[in-house]
Amino acid sequence: MECCRYQLIPALISLIFLCPLAHGWGVDGHLIICKIAQSRLSKSAEEAVEQLLPGYADNDLSSLCSWADRVRFRYRWSAPLHFINTPDVCNYQYDRDCKDENGEKDRCAAGAIHNYTTQLLNYGKSSQSDYNLTEGLLFLSHFMGDIHQPLHVGFASDRGGNDINVRWYTRKQVLHHVWDNNIIETAEQRFYNEDVQELIDAIQHNITTEWADQVKTWEACSETACPDIYASEGIKAACDYAYKGVEEGSVLKGKVAHTVNKVYFYSVCLREFLKLNLTADDYFLSRLPIVNLRLAQGGVRLAATLNRIFG
Ligand SMILES: [Zn+2]
Repeated sequence: MECCRYQLIPALISLIFLCPLAHGWGVDGHLIICKIAQSRLSKSAEEAVEQLLPGYADNDLSSLCSWADRVRFRYRWSAPLHFINTPDVCNYQYDRDCKDENGEKDRCAAGAIHNYTTQLLNYGKSSQSDYNLTEGLLFLSHFMGDIHQPLHVGFASDRGGNDINVRWYTRKQVLHHVWDNNIIETAEQRFYNEDVQELIDAIQHNITTEWADQVKTWEACSETACPDIYASEGIKAACDYAYKGVEEGSVLKGKVAHTVNKVYFYSVCLREFLKLNLTADDYFLSRLPIVNLRLAQGGVRLAATLNRIFG
């Protein structure tokens, strides 16, 4: 037994290091963005997407929108392409920030969006065979989603909120996961009968009503793809909403808690316990509109980009 225990401990330690790394919106976030996008494709983009999707996807882009997350261990080189880190500042600059942890340039979500856009422009040309354009479509669709998740353009020191432990209602979470999954899941449970399609319908309705005037601006791009605009918005949303109220090393000032549901923030790095005097409901209800907006923008912009690529 003793030998097994010694083998078990390193295995458990590896598991701890492997597990908490989130790499994008959760499955529902990516599904929502791809569903919205596919409903807005031009005729030629619709045909190209149908051609490029594998048969088993049944012409449903959303069914493979999380494929890039599923292959991140097989394609280890792709891990840094899911996010962007800034040097703990609330602005983004491609030349400064788009690199992996070894400093290799262009290896971030914005660089990947440019790369797969360029590859997909070969669709229908003789040079098409130089690339796996099915994978290119799936990577582009996924990274367009990731770059719209505010904490995917976050601070390097906390790895986009992955090192900030929180309590989401009664469950321990990291802040990054709250933005990938929990806000969307709680919205589905509370307002949409646990049915992601009802949430998609609500966002689609907003795109044609409340946000109708803004959609042209969201789509605008002087090149084929404009990830720098989305990344700049992302880090601003991270600072204004996701990180807002979280300060390391001090008790946070905020609304006085009035229910048993409190959101607690800890800083693992500094090993200091931080308490945010916000109720979970305050955080959830004030941040949900931002999540809905970013999902809508992600879907609209993925469609606009694919329409520009495929004509
Ligand atoms: Zn991702």
